Amino acid sequence: MSGNELRFQAICQITDREKLPPKVPSRLEELWATDVFTLNKMQACLPKDVFKSLKSTIQTGGKLDVSVAGIVAAAMKDWAISKGALYYAHVFYPLTNITAEKHDGFISVQSDGSVLTEFTGKVLVQGEPDGSSFPNGGIRNTSAARGYTAWDVTSPAYVMETDNGVTLCIPTVFISWTGEALDKKTPLLRSNAAMSKAATRLLKLLGHSEVAPLNSSCGPEQEYFLVDSHFVHSRPDLLLTGRTLFGRPAAKGQQFDDHYFGAIPERVQVFMQDVEERLYRLGIPAKTRHNEVAPGQFEIAPFFEAANVASDHQQMTMTVLRNTAKKHGFTCLLHEKPFAGINGSGKHVNWSVGNSTQGNLLDPGDSPHSNLQFLLFCGAVIRGVHKYGPLLRVVVATASNDHRLGANEAPPAIISVYLGSQLEDVFEQIKQGEVKSSSHAGVMSLGVDSLPEFPKDPGDRNRTSPFAFTGNRFEFRAVGSNQSVSGPLVAMNTILTDSLTWIADKLEAELAKGTALDTAAYTILKEVMENHGAVVFGGNGYSEEWHKMAVEERGLLNLPTTADALPILKEKYIEELFEKTGVLTTPELDSRFEVYAEQYIGVIEMEAKLVISMAKTVIYPAAIRYLSELAETIANLKQIGLPFEAETAEKVAVQTKLMTDTVSKLSDALSQHDFASIEEHMQYCAKTLRPLMDQVREYADALEGEVADDLWPLPKYQEMLFIK
Ligand code: ADP
Ligand code: MG
Repeated sequence: MSGNELRFQAICQITDREKLPPKVPSRLEELWATDVFTLNKMQACLPKDVFKSLKSTIQTGGKLDVSVAGIVAAAMKDWAISKGALYYAHVFYPLTNITAEKHDGFISVQSDGSVLTEFTGKVLVQGEPDGSSFPNGGIRNTSAARGYTAWDVTSPAYVMETDNGVTLCIPTVFISWTGEALDKKTPLLRSNAAMSKAATRLLKLLGHSEVAPLNSSCGPEQEYFLVDSHFVHSRPDLLLTGRTLFGRPAAKGQQFDDHYFGAIPERVQVFMQDVEERLYRLGIPAKTRHNEVAPGQFEIAPFFEAANVASDHQQMTMTVLRNTAKKHGFTCLLHEKPFAGINGSGKHVNWSVGNSTQGNLLDPGDSPHSNLQFLLFCGAVIRGVHKYGPLLRVVVATASNDHRLGANEAPPAIISVYLGSQLEDVFEQIKQGEVKSSSHAGVMSLGVDSLPEFPKDPGDRNRTSPFAFTGNRFEFRAVGSNQSVSGPLVAMNTILTDSLTWIADKLEAELAKGTALDTAAYTILKEVMENHGAVVFGGNGYSEEWHKMAVEERGLLNLPTTADALPILKEKYIEELFEKTGVLTTPELDSRFEVYAEQYIGVIEMEAKLVISMAKTVIYPAAIRYLSELAETIANLKQIGLPFEAETAEKVAVQTKLMTDTVSKLSDALSQHDFASIEEHMQYCAKTLRPLMDQVREYADALEGEVADDLWPLPKYQEMLFIK
């Protein structure tokens, strides 16, 4: 079958496909957490003292009493087997953005040849996956290749159902033989503990005698594209890289905004229902669903949860989205920029901190100007984002997210804070040294008596800001759709820890001198605004003026690519931040630099290879076939003396030649292996390989606009985005 036949067959198969009927939705109470080994289930089957000890670890982060593990393991096994599981898996999150799991059977062979099911406390608590193939950035050389997984009691175990059966999944951390974190969960747990300690100290200074352990919370909004799998299978680029390396934008894109929040297409609605049912069974509180701006793009967001659990749930959500899509004949693209010319996908990470005694510490209340506690926590965030803005840029730096950041659809690569008009005004008053009031937006009247009046939010939204205050939380909007949320959460928790400690030190010293609490607090906040207020920006983050002003007047860093951003991890002040908060040792931090740099280079080189092979073996043949058809027609017309035009043939010939020349240049460029450092290698990818790839694409996309449609082998944008 020739390529173009494959393309047309895909269209026919999609049009003729048998529809999956919509499900009758089950009652939420019947679905909720049926696949999770919840506290309630534990309480029902564990001895009282065991349950109590476990519950206290889960709820307060206290030390785990390992002696209870055997009893918990047996109960967990019985429950999992009752759900149909024959296998268990320690699930962990290596430094790639994937979820890793190693499956083991419950089977235990006895001396008489019979079998029993077995699951001991020891295997619940600790596993040893063959971890040598996971990236470790030099922490483990092969002579010390052991890696361990250890049970994270604070994130519940669950059963995951796939076509291959049911597996008991146990969330774990992944560490080296020398105790270094090789994963994304360990630093998240450490950063949460560090934040809790620093916040407790400050809350006590503010006069609270009872302070419950603090947790960071996270509500991640996940954007994604759905494309029929028939199309994906006939596009090597989507299949291997998750994005289109070629493709001419369709005549209709997102210019009419008619997809955004429009009626969800029926087939997609059936898919979403299926996803939500699976998520509910896994105890994941999916709450919001809608169409996104680009055609074929959608969003799902859960209700927010404790950061560690939210992060595990987010990984599970990505898995469920991918697996369920397959069942519905879709491919779920989580790549940040699957299609050129229309919006890419992000993952807004909503984040706050709080506890059961003081509540949400980022809730400003009705009069934020006099809410000292809120002002200090919010001021701590402002200071952190200013001081460590480049770190926030690093944790969203990937080869795929580079296509999105700063592309006038997603936040710029310059990190600033949006506070909204009310808070911006309050912090400005603080800076001026006299705090009088909080402005109020009043009520919104709609001018129609039958419509309700409602209170206006004290601040509007600003979609162009990478880090925005949205009422009672911050929303980090630069995170990529394909990323784990752990890195961003670790960064936010850690910079907050640093700022809270700095504030507590100052406050403690002032109080010791006998300064009144509010005088001391406002003085500290004034200092924060004087030294760090430059990071607050309420204007248009997409504009050229901001890019100029941010860098030239405010001294903020603009790090447009991952190659520019990653080396920040090696800066002394970043090492010190992680060392003093106890979140990452310098070797652990270095290992992250190594791994992420290698990933960046790996992705770009792989894509470059595919650009070369697709240009040569898919696009070039189509262009040449069309050219020979044109040449034949011209020759025939010439022979019988009819007028002919050679313009199209010339255009195709010229574009084809330009494309093949650029492909040769890219091939040569790719064979360069002589780099003084990994930093130089990254820069080479960003400054030499990527532009050449873009150039090849430009010529190929121009050809797509000339070559006869029936000869074009790759599914086109209009088909992939609009046929459902
Ligand atoms: P929008 O698209 O308007 O930004 P969504 O409703 O889609 O908002 O998503 C907002 C996310 O923020 C949800 O996951 C929500 O649960 C979460 N969220 C709400 N309050 C908090 C909070 N205090 N801390 C963390 N996340 C929160
Ligand atoms: Mg949002």
